[in-house]
Amino acid sequence: MTDYPKGPHDLGGDCHAWLLPSGGWGESNTGLVRGAGTSLLVDTLYDLPLTAEMLAGYAPLTAQHPIRTLVNTHSDGDHWFGNQLVAGPEVEILATEAAAELMTSAAVDELRGLRTREDEIGEFFRRNPRQFDLSGIVATPPTRTFTGELSIDVGGREVQLIQVGPAHTPGDLLTYVPDAKIIYTGDILFIGGAPLVWTGPVARCIAACERILDLELTTIVPGHGPLTDKDGVRVVRDYLQFVEVEAIKRFEAGLSVEEAVASIDLGRFAAMTERGRIAANVLNVYEELDPSRRRENRLEQFGRIAAYELAREQE
Ligand SMILES: [Zn+2]
Repeated sequence: MTDYPKGPHDLGGDCHAWLLPSGGWGESNTGLVRGAGTSLLVDTLYDLPLTAEMLAGYAPLTAQHPIRTLVNTHSDGDHWFGNQLVAGPEVEILATEAAAELMTSAAVDELRGLRTREDEIGEFFRRNPRQFDLSGIVATPPTRTFTGELSIDVGGREVQLIQVGPAHTPGDLLTYVPDAKIIYTGDILFIGGAPLVWTGPVARCIAACERILDLELTTIVPGHGPLTDKDGVRVVRDYLQFVEVEAIKRFEAGLSVEEAVASIDLGRFAAMTERGRIAANVLNVYEELDPSRRRENRLEQFGRIAAYELAREQE
């Protein structure tokens, strides 16, 4: 995967991004949109040290433009566990209603427990190239929620929050800055890494990509990975369409999820990192095609991904 520098990126139009290479598990990006005397922050990071470093990196930009609005793109920990370092009486924290329901201390505890498990999931997390420090995190949920679309004012600039979840997770949103033609997509887009459909259905992830493609844009900030453009969005959409078609064929042929996952040749998508996400993505298609099938939880989904990745490592 292409290398890209860590830290602040000036996107023009007084919009900024903080990128965290290499965009793998937990290595997420944030955004900063400045208006007159105020700023909006898109997402915090997975742990407090990373979030503190990111906020210090933005400090020259926020000294005269303090962060008064924090938007969390969705409910996964790598996009909100650092919220407590931004929260305060003057700060509004925004997310969709569906995301907010999942932003709880139970979610923090669950993620914290993964690394110490004695199964493949624990091994998978212990092997992650970047280890996170999940100590000291106090769940700091949104102070305001919405459904659908919400237009907010950031020091005289309009920023549009567009709910596209359920897709990657139940409550994903896009943060669009029309006057700068810049969008922060959260985990609707992984660039370099494989897309991941935790919640789905896949069709809604594809629709979210189409929604992005319909906007006028100069720069796109993904949830993970380097800055991209519409071609980057098309790769994500095409991967999702490919996986959906291949999974449907195998479902109709009577293959199990495991057989389906093992038999899909990723072809032109094989160079993506985190390829094991195919296991969760195929499962999602099967669950959609067979409503009587029990919906697997996040831990079970992780288990399938971990098994795929660990098996591939041993090849
Ligand atoms: Zn993420």
